[in-house]
Amino acid sequence: MAGRTFEKAVFLDRDGVINHDPGDYTTTLDDFEILPGTVEKLKIWWQSGWGLIVITNQGGIDKGMYSASEVRAMHQYLQGLCAAQGFAIDAFYFCPHHPEYSGKCLCRKPGSLMIEKAMHHFQLKPANCVMLGDRERDMDSASGAGVRGVLLPINRGIAALPDDPALLW
Ligand SMILES: [Mg+2]
Repeated sequence: MAGRTFEKAVFLDRDGVINHDPGDYTTTLDDFEILPGTVEKLKIWWQSGWGLIVITNQGGIDKGMYSASEVRAMHQYLQGLCAAQGFAIDAFYFCPHHPEYSGKCLCRKPGSLMIEKAMHHFQLKPANCVMLGDRERDMDSASGAGVRGVLLPINRGIAALPDDPALLW
């Protein structure tokens, strides 16, 4: 599954879109609660040739609330759920910085660098991508990269979204 190529992709914010956002940081694997129907919908998108790329701010790393390896453990847990269904998320990008700690960085949303890096890595055209998020900064990140953004209610999840992400246009 690694190294799969695709010409279209869904970028997904993590907290509040994939997993339940308690309103603050998700600090431990125990708190990493995947919203209902998420894996099933991701599989449908994956099977129809859409890349799946998570784009997430994790400023809690800078704040010392949790470590990058704990973030990776959450992502491995999610990959395990996907692998059990026969597919994989293609990439995870996270920004570990927080402006009050290590200062202003280029990657943190509303900046668009993480999306731009992913589009470069996978050779994607912005017009073939969509970004799903639950905050204005996700939308700003998308528009900065020239990608369509779709704002979802926090913790609504993706289960009710179309089986064809092109219908989000
Ligand atoms: Mg969010």
